[in-house]
Amino acid sequence: MYEPELETIRPEALQKLQLDRLKKMARYAADNVPMYGKRFKEKGVDADSIRSLEDVAKLPFTVKTDLRDHYPYGILAVPLEKVVRLHASSGTTGKPTVVTYTRNDLETWVRMMARTYGAANVTPTEIVQNAYGYGLFTGGLGFHYGAERIGAVVIPAAAGNTKRQLMLMKDMKTTILACTPSYAMYIGEEAVKEGMDPKKDLHLRVGLFGAEPWSEEARKRIQDTFGLRAHDCYGMSELYGPGVAVECEHQRGLHIWGDEFLPEIVDTETLQPLPPGQKGELVITMLTREAMPLIRYRTRDLATLEYEECECGRWHPRIMRIKGRSDDMLIIGGVNVFPSQVEHVLMNMPEMGDQYQIIVKRDLLDHLSVKAEVAPNFKHHDKAQMSRLKSDVEKELTAVLTVRAKVELLPPESLPRSEGKAKRVIDLRKEEKK
Ligand code: ADP
Ligand code: ZN
Repeated sequence: MYEPELETIRPEALQKLQLDRLKKMARYAADNVPMYGKRFKEKGVDADSIRSLEDVAKLPFTVKTDLRDHYPYGILAVPLEKVVRLHASSGTTGKPTVVTYTRNDLETWVRMMARTYGAANVTPTEIVQNAYGYGLFTGGLGFHYGAERIGAVVIPAAAGNTKRQLMLMKDMKTTILACTPSYAMYIGEEAVKEGMDPKKDLHLRVGLFGAEPWSEEARKRIQDTFGLRAHDCYGMSELYGPGVAVECEHQRGLHIWGDEFLPEIVDTETLQPLPPGQKGELVITMLTREAMPLIRYRTRDLATLEYEECECGRWHPRIMRIKGRSDDMLIIGGVNVFPSQVEHVLMNMPEMGDQYQIIVKRDLLDHLSVKAEVAPNFKHHDKAQMSRLKSDVEKELTAVLTVRAKVELLPPESLPRSEGKAKRVIDLRKEEKK
């Protein structure tokens, strides 16, 4: 563990620390960010309204558009001379969301990343190949500085150039791979194409995968391909970047570092706090952020929280796998469908490959169709086998999703691969609206 004392802090002590920090943060935000000053006043709350951790629910929420509305410099609580770094989220439409860091913020982020590596049992003797994108995206620098901090060798390979990626991995005897899960699958596929046996010819031991949703089945596939242990990592640029939560060796949910992030789960409709174990939207208050404090930030990610002790000795609450974003939910003829359900079905079938695309159209009714590659060893030239498999996949998808799904099976290597976050859903209904 990188910070054993803070990582194994007992729940009572953690809650005391959280409450203390929450009060300070409420005061700091109200005093230094005009938006919060105004909102606190409107709600009739201030730092003194916080007497217990539950009182966090008295504070106003913050949403992504609040950050966009404060473009370019975001919700800044310090003068620019105190800011030492800026990142921005991809922002596929319009202006990106900019996030800023003071020197202390960067230090906190690096510590959270060092804990992330520690939780995945990465030691100073390790060779870390960082294949997250470097740049405005927080993945690259986040995983980079965390690896340096624990004293591992970091190879800043960055996303892309998969052949070179494999050469480095082989020659440098890389033991740790950090990248998105979809890129890990792509790297595995390329390795096999190059005639490698990723298990024997590579030396990967642990993978740190995140930045996008992925299923248990995808984990199994990646672990089987490389013979490594795959850890789920969660974060977002608004909350420093990666390093918010990570799975320990027990892989039973992602520990969210409670001394820095106060998590809540709220009902997606009523926005009322939900008890542990219930599924809702993850809301996070940053407890020590200087440049860009965020109070009750609505992540749009759907999850549940558990508070029991973990066998690793950490009591930090666990986010049970992020189930997807509320914005990713597709409503097909009134039925809620999550892309993760499609992935679950496909990856459970050994005849199916790793790549798929979900396409939604509307004429009079909504239509869901799924394009999916078959596994490399499946006889895709055999028409009878293909048509039998197609009807099996359709049946299975329709049963799980409870809406009719049309399936088009494709030979291996038909769909575009992702080096970063995969784009798996094409909703033509939205595009028409734009
Ligand atoms: P952007 O994609 O806008 O650049 P980020 O890179 O900060 O912004 O992405 C953050 C989002 O990525 C999270 O809100 C979440 O939806 C998704 N994400 C990150 N890590 C995971 C994970 N381990 N599992 C599922 N989703 C994740
Ligand atoms: Zn644990």
